[in-house]
Amino acid sequence: MASVSLESIKRKFNNVTAIEDITFNIPDGEFWVLVGPSGCGKSTILRTIAGLETATSGKLYIGDKLMNNVPARQRDVAMVFQNYALYPHMTVAENIAFGLRMRKVEPKVVQERVMMVARSLALEHLLERKPKQLSGGQQQRVALGRAIARQPQVFLLDEPLSNLDAQLRDDTRAELKELHHNLGITTVYVTHDQVEAMTLADQIVVLNRGRIQQIGEPQEIYAKP
Ligand code: ADP
Ligand code: ADP
Repeated sequence: MASVSLESIKRKFNNVTAIEDITFNIPDGEFWVLVGPSGCGKSTILRTIAGLETATSGKLYIGDKLMNNVPARQRDVAMVFQNYALYPHMTVAENIAFGLRMRKVEPKVVQERVMMVARSLALEHLLERKPKQLSGGQQQRVALGRAIARQPQVFLLDEPLSNLDAQLRDDTRAELKELHHNLGITTVYVTHDQVEAMTLADQIVVLNRGRIQQIGEPQEIYAKP
């Protein structure tokens, strides 16, 4: 677990400024949600934290470490996208274990971690299946499980529920909340969905045209006028 701090982060693509003057500090273990219209810069912020984009200027800290020049693979950050990509030839258990095996974690620890993740995401009965034998919601739960299995310091989620139908979205949202409650990993979550923002967020960052418009708790952001 670690805090995530952005100080005046800016990212330009040629002459287009995608984000500008982005400053916020997420304390250890909190769940923050980025909202705003399409193209306002949500993904660019997430990708900058992950190290998939380089800031044009400004500073990014994870914990007290300056991360600007740290490559993505050396950041202790896990990211889940809208289009979960599981390894089709591997079982659910192997998919969840993959990142740990790559990091040469002891087999006994891998096994324990896979069981812990499977329990918290209701995947225990599916561990021997291949991805194509799962529903969309189950596949997305495996993608979440694979990301959290290695217990990253920071968890980044880019509209992880938007490809699910309404019922599955509700269920998976509740599971995500439970998971965060249990593990307390510092999380940055991008969504268009007000219900997701309301139910999941400690703090909401409202973006517009690449700038922060407001930061506040859900009841402040969505207060009736
Ligand atoms: P959001 O996730 O809120 O939809 P993005 O972060 O994807 O917004 O995009 C913010 C702005 O930056 C948009 O104007 C988008 O077109 C632009 N942008 C994002 N990525 C690139 C890129 N690789 N090249 C050029 N422009 C980009
Ligand atoms: P979102 O669904 O979050 O709005 P987009 O579909 O806008 O995401 O962007 C998906 C990918 O395309 C991202 O990696 C982003 O950096 C890139 N991208 C977005 N806008 C542009 C653009 N104008 N030119 C080049 N790449 C872009």
